[in-house]
Amino acid sequence: GPGDIHAEVVVLGSGPGGYTAAFRAADLGKSVVLIEANSTLGGVCLNVGCIPSKALLHVAKVITEAEEMASHGISFGAPQIDLDDLRDFKDSVVGKLTGGLDGLAKGRKVTVVRGYGKFTGPNMISVEGKEPKTVSFDQCIIAAGSEPVTLPFIPHDDPRVIDSTGALDLMDVPERMLVLGGGIIGLEMACVYDALGSKITVVELMDQIIPGADKDIVKPLMTRIKGRYENIFLKTKVTGAEATDAGIKITFQDENGESFSDTFDKVLVAVGRRPNGKKVDAEKAGVAVDDRGFIAVDNQQRTGVPHIFAIGDVVGQPMLAHKAVHEGKVAAEVCAGHKRFFDASLIPSVAYTDPEVAWCGVTEVDAKAKGIKYEKGVFPWAASGRSLSNGRSEGMTKLLFDPEDQRVIGGCIVGTNAGDLISEVALAIEMGADAVDLGHTIHPHPTLSETVNFAAEMFEGTITDLI
Ligand code: FAD
Repeated sequence: GPGDIHAEVVVLGSGPGGYTAAFRAADLGKSVVLIEANSTLGGVCLNVGCIPSKALLHVAKVITEAEEMASHGISFGAPQIDLDDLRDFKDSVVGKLTGGLDGLAKGRKVTVVRGYGKFTGPNMISVEGKEPKTVSFDQCIIAAGSEPVTLPFIPHDDPRVIDSTGALDLMDVPERMLVLGGGIIGLEMACVYDALGSKITVVELMDQIIPGADKDIVKPLMTRIKGRYENIFLKTKVTGAEATDAGIKITFQDENGESFSDTFDKVLVAVGRRPNGKKVDAEKAGVAVDDRGFIAVDNQQRTGVPHIFAIGDVVGQPMLAHKAVHEGKVAAEVCAGHKRFFDASLIPSVAYTDPEVAWCGVTEVDAKAKGIKYEKGVFPWAASGRSLSNGRSEGMTKLLFDPEDQRVIGGCIVGTNAGDLISEVALAIEMGADAVDLGHTIHPHPTLSETVNFAAEMFEGTITDLI
């Protein structure tokens, strides 16, 4: 029919995985159609994830730094917050990036089809929307991403109950806000609303915030937010929620089974994300989707159907943009006939909280669980000239080494800019660097990056002066 088009490669979803795959496939000479249901390209990351959250976290950082200048002899007045202007700033950042993607797609002759795509057969997708279309393909890359998990007993239709997208909308600054879930996304949003003036309570089921991260590097973050937030409930379950005139009344149950309740002006539900695999009728193409909605792939991003690939959040944890991007390149290159595999040895994780928490490679918990032998070098930032000068000396850099050959196998950092600093550790691990490589590389002084050098020297026992 007239609405029907064909592409050598169809990419379903334009998040960081999808647009990367589409652009790479086009660069390698393929005719590419990129299908996107949303009115702008960029997926969760650009529209309602990584980027808008970082724009707001930057503002939060400036506010809290200004507050803390008081102890250095500089006082500012209380911040005057114009939420409309702040929202405009955030939206303008997002707009620049999503608009940029339109240009990049055009430049590569990638055809963007707007609407919701679903498989109707192994070589066919039908796109619902203003202009319904069928798109036939030789190869397809599924990059459908994920969405926030909802909880059955929470009144999600009440405007006082929000998810991360609602939190980024900045409709108001609630007086008292509950953050349900102490993972990365919840804690980043908590950081923003705390700076804007909300009284924050965090509730987490596990025995630490950011479950999965090294306990030692979570500690400084915990100490700081304990001092700023109203409450942080660990090993505590939310068992009920009720919309009342006074707010959302939440019932908690602590580790001893004791119940208690409190009422909040806003409740941010940040208990994880669920993959969109079940929504694309993948089974009609013969692609298996598991109970949770994940699509299994091999180390070339291939599903069980050889000409259909999947990448990003829809294939599994960790649900991170840089993982999606890397997988997108692998899938596109394999589509173009290259012998490429997903063989990265690590995927770094970062919480852009204040302080930031970042880690990559083997953690001590992993090592103990899997019986991996390790030795460590730990450098406390209280001995770093730069972190003291910044007035933020609570950080720590910890490196794990293989005791046999002294190669770096893992690292974790907490402190201001930890997210930027972790890349050196990632590079060291990918290149098989050892403690001497890190210890003998001259790092500029005084920088926070020196703490990586010092942690290596702590392990080697060659550090002489702490500066
Ligand atoms: P997504 O970004 O989820 O995009 C999928 C796209 O596909 C969407 O645009 C969707 O509309 C479209 N789509 C889905 N199904 C169809 C269909 N059938 N037809 C047409 N279109 C479809 N990660 C980081 O690495 N760093 C961060 O700092 C970070 N911060 C985050 C903050 C928040 C608040 C959130 C929510 C997430 C954050 N993430 C972060 C996670 C990151 O956003 C995701 O890992 C990443 O976006 C996944 O990319 P993706 O390509 O798999 O899919």
